[in-house]
Amino acid sequence: MTNSLEEFKDELETCFGTSCGFCERGCPVYQSAKVKTLCMKGRNRTMLGLIQGKFEITPAVVQAAFECTLCGNCDRWCALKNTEHTRAFREYLLKHGVEPMKEHSSILASIKSYGNPWFQPRSARNRWAKGLNIPKAAPGKQEVLFFAGCTSAVTKQLNRSLVASARLLQKAGVSFATMGQDEPCCGSTLLRVGQTDAYRELSASNVERFKELGIRKIVTACPGCYTTLKKSMEDAGAKIEVTHISQEITQLVKDGRLKVNKSTERMTYHDPCHLGRLGGVFEEPREIVGAVAKFVEMPNNRYESRCCGAGAGLQSAFPKLSKDLAAKRVAEARLTGATTIVTSCPFCETQLRTVPGMRVVDLMELLLDSVEGEPRNNGSRSSS
Ligand code: SF4
Ligand code: SF4
Repeated sequence: MTNSLEEFKDELETCFGTSCGFCERGCPVYQSAKVKTLCMKGRNRTMLGLIQGKFEITPAVVQAAFECTLCGNCDRWCALKNTEHTRAFREYLLKHGVEPMKEHSSILASIKSYGNPWFQPRSARNRWAKGLNIPKAAPGKQEVLFFAGCTSAVTKQLNRSLVASARLLQKAGVSFATMGQDEPCCGSTLLRVGQTDAYRELSASNVERFKELGIRKIVTACPGCYTTLKKSMEDAGAKIEVTHISQEITQLVKDGRLKVNKSTERMTYHDPCHLGRLGGVFEEPREIVGAVAKFVEMPNNRYESRCCGAGAGLQSAFPKLSKDLAAKRVAEARLTGATTIVTSCPFCETQLRTVPGMRVVDLMELLLDSVEGEPRNNGSRSSS
């Protein structure tokens, strides 16, 4: 279900009446920018003023809509569906004639032409799987689909995470397929930047394709795909399970199908917003890091984890703020005494690596390096 802004009017009035401001404390954008219109209390007032006809759409109103990572921290402190309000706010502005932010305007065109938001040819989508002998999904064949996701698939530096995921599944004897270069975009970016109609169309078409292929379970590599495809299934009432690769692999380790070597290195884990707070997957990645290394927790973790600053178009449209959020998260990780930040999201991985001085490693790559029989990859993925 994807509500319009007007359908949230009661919630916006509740916020106006309450005005408690609890949402301010964990909002990374507000804590960095200290601008009242950029936390949910202020943004909800702006939205209410708009739909009551008291405010006009100005550049400041547009900025208030888009200067947010949709990290969900404000939902942690409030009974209202704040991130849904912001998503609906963006949709409202686009439907009222506001041009998409220039950094976001190309997304729809690229998805239509190339099936991904990054203007990469369709042939790039399956490059990562070369030599891995993964079957292509076909009706009546494998019921488990490994869904690579646009960003890791078409970005060479991120391909290693997909290779690691596939090799771990193969080592554990899991039968699975991919859609090769026919894998579609999940529509996550469309949804987050307010292109809701385009998202709905893509989502419905994706569900039909999965059904035609006889897919019963989709294992996602990217947290954004995880929450988006789950939503697609819920919206369509489709009985296709959606999981994240960390959940699958943790179970395989517990079942003894993957044997792990533990080191004494101190490592911490950064919760990707879409996997943790928005997706509810907190413990499995921690179990993997704990099996591989000495795990140390950051003060802000699980529901209270701080966003890396990459989400919901902030990285492209507000790079200075986005970098500031990344620097704050890396500084928090350093305080734990860890040498390495482990994460499980292509956006977080890329974003945290922009801050020098700390090694950032993908969860699946880390595990593959530690599984018996695999050669060690000594720090080739260091950020510094
Ligand atoms: S968004 Fe929620 S937490 Fe923030 S001021 Fe409104 S009611 Fe309070
Ligand atoms: S989603 Fe995150 S960045 Fe946006 S208002 Fe809520 S806490 Fe702040």
